[in-house]
Amino acid sequence: CGIVGYIGHRDAYPIIIKGLQRLEYRGYDSAGIALFDGSNINLSKTKGKVEDLKRKSENTISLKGKLGIGHTRWATHGVPNDVNSHPHYSNSGNLVIIHNGIIENYDSIKKELINRGYTFSSDTDTEVLVNLIEEVKKKENVKLGQAVQIALNQVVGAYAIAVIDKQKPDEIVVAKLGSPLAIGVGENEFFIASDASPFIEFTNNAIYLEDEEMAIIRLGKEIKLRKIKDDSIA
Ligand code: GLU
Repeated sequence: CGIVGYIGHRDAYPIIIKGLQRLEYRGYDSAGIALFDGSNINLSKTKGKVEDLKRKSENTISLKGKLGIGHTRWATHGVPNDVNSHPHYSNSGNLVIIHNGIIENYDSIKKELINRGYTFSSDTDTEVLVNLIEEVKKKENVKLGQAVQIALNQVVGAYAIAVIDKQKPDEIVVAKLGSPLAIGVGENEFFIASDASPFIEFTNNAIYLEDEEMAIIRLGKEIKLRKIKDDSIA
């Protein structure tokens, strides 16, 4: 399982595909990608290998976008199939997530969300998390970073996640507990990955997130690092 992401001035697609291939040694059963072209977030995902994802995405979606996230899945909740593959949209279609790890209390959160009218198309714990983030964002009327932080404080489990928001074309929010996550810092561009191998050819400036740490990565800005448990949520 692995995570790759890019935001900057280059086309994200080739960086993400190549990065996922570098992470293949970690093992996986499915792969997927989301590309944000500034107005739409296009998703392609499939059971199988990164090579299968490449073929599928090149035949079915626009590959445009200077922001993208990609994932290889090692199924824990829900069988390996196209629908359960990541990335996952939230109900509104505004948020998109990739996740390595396990949300242990997903079942009770899912029931609560269903009571509030949310629907689910996959059997994954991950789709529950992205909708919890959406619900928090709406209910608390907060920005993406704050919504992720508040939601993660309600979650038991392990994760490396990356979340993007259709209303934030220059931002990726990442967080880590248990699973690895590295951020590569370039010249007005950022990379994220499970290890540095996907971005080593572009930059040797890497930040390794610690457990219970999150980062708001915004183009043209300093990375904001934050403790997930910090209660001075700002
Ligand atoms: N628990 C998630 C799922 O089953 C993520 C698995 C992974 O680490 O790839 O979809």
